[in-house]
Amino acid sequence: MLNKEIFKEITSIASESNASLIAVSKRKPVEDIAELIDLGHLDFGENYVQELVKKHKELPNTIRWHFIGHLQRNKVKEIISFVHMIHSVDSLRLLKEIDNRAAKEGRIVDVLLQVHVAQEESKFGFNPQDLLSLFENKSFEGFEFVRICGIMGMCTYTSDKQVLQGEFEQLKSVFNEVKNNPEYNNNAWKELSMGMSGDYSLALAHGSTMIRVGSLIFGARD
Ligand SMILES: *Cc1c(COP(=O)(O)O)cnc(C)c1O
Repeated sequence: MLNKEIFKEITSIASESNASLIAVSKRKPVEDIAELIDLGHLDFGENYVQELVKKHKELPNTIRWHFIGHLQRNKVKEIISFVHMIHSVDSLRLLKEIDNRAAKEGRIVDVLLQVHVAQEESKFGFNPQDLLSLFENKSFEGFEFVRICGIMGMCTYTSDKQVLQGEFEQLKSVFNEVKNNPEYNNNAWKELSMGMSGDYSLALAHGSTMIRVGSLIFGARD
């Protein structure tokens, strides 16, 4: 069930850290989203293309939709005209497809590069070292219709604080390594998207600029 009190509390905790809150509404009804819009919230995260397209049609287009799930290249065209930010770019081929589709739309789309730090095999993303090599090789140059704004990461599914802290630190250091290198010179580079329901305050303490919180706000998903 939607919990507006917790929503307000997390909103103010995020803003104290100058971070933004992405309310992750996946598998939750448009009515719940509409209630948060009434409170003035605009940033929502979804991770299934079909569901996002449907909700986009049903809700006001003032919403800033953040795509946070694994994105298949053949699905890019379905969200490219309206998505606000894609957090989950995990390959150069996907980036290329987003760039091509954005060009056709005549818009520049904000994206984050997903970095893999979790112990689970199944989570998508670039390895930190591979990502830095790609920067070194200038592989991200020449994309004119995407703005690469930073990185997104997910931690291991654990309550072990040591593990989480280590992974947040890893994400932060990749983020800073790009930020502090004038050769990678990217003025848009400012977002470090990390932290979910179970670990958002720890993420903020480690420099997160965007927390993605779902179940704490909307209730557990089936
Ligand atoms: C579902 C999801 C979240 C939110 O998870 P909660 O634990 O419900 O807060 C955040 N990020 C991604 C990428 C997700 O898929």
